[in-house]
Amino acid sequence: MAISTLTQDLTIKVPAATVAANQTLHFAQPSNQLIEQLVAQHGAPLMVLDCESVRQQYRALSRALPGVTLYFALKPLPHAAVVRTLLEEGASFDLATSGEIDLVANQGVPSERTIHTHPIKRDADIRDALEYGCNVFVVDNINELEKFIAYKDDVELLVRLSFRNADSFADLSKKFGCSPAMAIDIITYAQQLGIRIKGLSFHVGSQTASPSKYVTAISACNHVINEVTALGLPALSTLDIGGGFPVPYNKDVLPIDEFCAPINDALAQLPDTVRVIAEPGRFIVAGAVTSVASVMGQAVREGKPWYYLDDGIYGSFSGLLFDEASYPIDSLKQSGERVESVLAGPTCDSIDVVSESIMLPKLNNGDLIISRMMGAYTLATATDFNFFKRAEVIVLNDVVHVDALTG
Ligand SMILES: *Cc1c(COP(=O)(O)O)cnc(C)c1O
Repeated sequence: MAISTLTQDLTIKVPAATVAANQTLHFAQPSNQLIEQLVAQHGAPLMVLDCESVRQQYRALSRALPGVTLYFALKPLPHAAVVRTLLEEGASFDLATSGEIDLVANQGVPSERTIHTHPIKRDADIRDALEYGCNVFVVDNINELEKFIAYKDDVELLVRLSFRNADSFADLSKKFGCSPAMAIDIITYAQQLGIRIKGLSFHVGSQTASPSKYVTAISACNHVINEVTALGLPALSTLDIGGGFPVPYNKDVLPIDEFCAPINDALAQLPDTVRVIAEPGRFIVAGAVTSVASVMGQAVREGKPWYYLDDGIYGSFSGLLFDEASYPIDSLKQSGERVESVLAGPTCDSIDVVSESIMLPKLNNGDLIISRMMGAYTLATATDFNFFKRAEVIVLNDVVHVDALTG
């Protein structure tokens, strides 16, 4: 009998990553020594994905929201190692596209542990999900509801409500969701059509700084749940409180247990029969990725040093545009007097500037720039514009499959 260790892509097993001395972040980070070693082996740019951070964040949110089932939203970092890690932790998954279905199916995620939450779907999207075995979908309008007439015996639906949130990075309620009154209309019509409505959902917006948005939304949903019962419609059994849980970029946010305390109080007001689920994305993965870029060249313009990196706005730093995120960025080199400098990306486009003003020591070509908190909405939205290749992903602390083989 032999034991073989199988890993699917490049996986490096390291002891739990050490915290860099100058970091005030609440995440374990790969040490500078490990980063230098990885660049020596693989070159730059790199995105170093630490699955141990994914595990810790999933556990922290599970503890902060007791009794709430967490469906990881794949959208911010659709990576197989993240799926494997969370599957092993017992997580469920929130899917929005057929590509995301393929990703979880390939990692062996049982379809009962998935929901499909894109509010607007093509018939083929619905069929792909049903073929996989995912049968919970989201609607927020009558047109979408009618798409399910053909599948009424196979599906259960959540009705998505909208609550505007000007504070978050992405006010998702501008694009999706309906009013409480419209939700009642949809649920009433679904009853006539013979389509099962399982419950309600909302998304307060990504990187929401205050839990009060959730509290307001939960209480509005509670009213709808009670109204549905009062109207004699089948009782709603599920409330999905979405994603949006914040992480500290350059600004502190409330620790997650404090953030969730008022949310739990609001959830306690719901009828006992309502099961609560959530769809965290950013919170699970943001801290798990450290990006490493190297200086390709430099110039002095209007008295300021400009450093041109091999990664930029069109690559791993795409979130600076699409996500309005602001990442903790620093040079690996810590010694030397710091002066105001500019960090530019590699492409020939002038908007490709990572930072207009950052205090850095004098850097040489080949020196490394390290950016933390780069896991969410970064790689996922990166392009290879100008034929600059996307950063290579190095996976640390992946699930290790150990299979016993005979012979
Ligand atoms: C993007 C998205 C999420 C994840 O949101 P985060 O802010 O990253 O937690 C969850 N649910 C839906 C429907 C989404 O579109």
